Order: sequence, then structure tokens, then C-alpha cells
Amino acid sequence: MSTPVDPRTTWDLPAPGAMPRTAALEPLVTRVLAPNPSPMTLDGTNTYVVGAPGGGQAVLVDPGPDDPAHLAAVEAALAGRDARCVAVLVTHHHGDHAEAALPWGARFGATVAAADARVAGPGGRVLEPGERLHLAGTAVDVVPTPGHTADHLAFRLESGAVLVGDHVLGRGTSVVTSPEGDVLAYLESLRRVHDLGPSALYCGHGPELTEDPGAVLDFYLAHRAMREEQLLAALREGAATVDELVAVVYAEVPREVWWAAAQSTRATLAKLLAEGAVDGDLDGRVRRA
Ligand SMILES: [Zn+2]
Repeated sequence: MSTPVDPRTTWDLPAPGAMPRTAALEPLVTRVLAPNPSPMTLDGTNTYVVGAPGGGQAVLVDPGPDDPAHLAAVEAALAGRDARCVAVLVTHHHGDHAEAALPWGARFGATVAAADARVAGPGGRVLEPGERLHLAGTAVDVVPTPGHTADHLAFRLESGAVLVGDHVLGRGTSVVTSPEGDVLAYLESLRRVHDLGPSALYCGHGPELTEDPGAVLDFYLAHRAMREEQLLAALREGAATVDELVAVVYAEVPREVWWAAAQSTRATLAKLLAEGAVDGDLDGRVRRA
């Protein structure tokens, strides 16, 4: 079994914890890093301020945690762009991306838009996969990217950059949650973003990926294939429960994130069960079919 090489190991990316709080990424985009670092959120949640320069308007993508210091930093970024917030877009319902959506939408008098009606809230807008939004002097394409969660969206900008939320992370790999996530949908979503030929990936967590976004997507696809092979090999060697499989397949991963590894393992087993490669019970014992 060959281990795919992460192309980012040779890139010049900021070390963990060394990302600037606020960064202008391109004329359309300023990134503001929220102060919520953790093993799952890496450096913290990235909030993106997007709009045509000089137009006086901006959209927030993934406002993140409803934290006063983060709000102050986002308001400073808006002021720096001489823009008021006209809409709040959310990639998916997880709190580290969505918590501030409704309170900040109300504060700014801005529409909240997401795939999940609960995130968009009363008076919000439920986004349709494939639609094009005309906001803040620019066009934003809504790209369906289910997999990490069922409601996950990415947003493609006119520049060719894609805001990918938790579909792709700036460091390491993402989690396909269970039971909500879906490995087959996730793989399809990776190919969908690859097909867009993104000029950059602006991730929900970690640094922006500008050098060779396609190579990162190829690595993500190869990494998933490797995990599936490792699961099948571990089953062959006698591991039979989710916990036993995680201990073998994720041996090199810190134990504090094994709960997330267990979700990805369950999601991959669900795919293998559906394909008939495995049988048994996810809550009990599984074996190769
Ligand atoms: Zn997240």
C-alpha cells in the first residue's frame, strides 16, 4: 500500500498558530481568523470578507463563533474595505462556522443564506446548489459539496478561488462525519471542486492553498482511498469493531482526535457495507464480505 504524499509538505505555509489575524488575500477577499483554535479547528475558524473593491459592500462567508473579539476584527476588516455587510453566507451548520450567522446578520441588517433552513433562520435564504448569487458587486457560485456534512456548500468567486469550508482544510485532511456525512458524496464533491480548476482554495481552517490546489484535491482523493485500503487490511487481520479499527488505522494520529477518526471510520464502513464489500453491524462487529 503506497502512502500518498501531501504536496503541501514542500509549500511555504505559515506554521500552526502563525497565521496573521487579518490578511488581504486578493482584491476580492480579506480573511479574518477567529480566536477559537483547537485540534479540530486548527488555527481557528477563517471568516472571509468578500466584495468588489470600492463598491461599499461585502459579504461574510462563515462568520464563525459569536465572539466579541472576532466581531471587532471582522468589523475592522469591513471598515478597512470601506464596506458594509450585505449578506452572511454559511458553508455548513457546524457551530464553529454558523454560530454568529443569525446574531451578526441581525446586527448588520444582512440576509443570512445557507443550504440548511435552520442556519438561514426566519427571513433567511435557503441556497440552491448551482445558483449564482450577485452580491457586493461580484458573482458567487453556490457549489454543492456534501460529504463532511449533508448541507455543505462551497462558494466559487469570479477570480476562480473557491471558499471550501471544511470540505478541504489548510492543513491535514477533513473528517467525513457520521451518521450525517457520506463518503461517496464526499469523493464526488472533491472531484467537483477539482473540475472547477480553482485558482486557490480558501479553507474553513488553516492557511489558504494557492500553489497547486488541484494537487491537494488529488491528495485528498488518494488519502481517502488509502484509508479504505487500510480499513480492509485491518479487517482482514482481525479488527472487527469501530474502536479496534481506529486503533489500527489511526495509530499515528493523536488520541484526542480519535473520536473524529471514529466518525470517518464509521462513514467509510457505511460505504463498504452499501457496496457489499463488508457485512455486519456498525454498532457491533463487522467483517469482510
Ligand atoms: Zn469547521
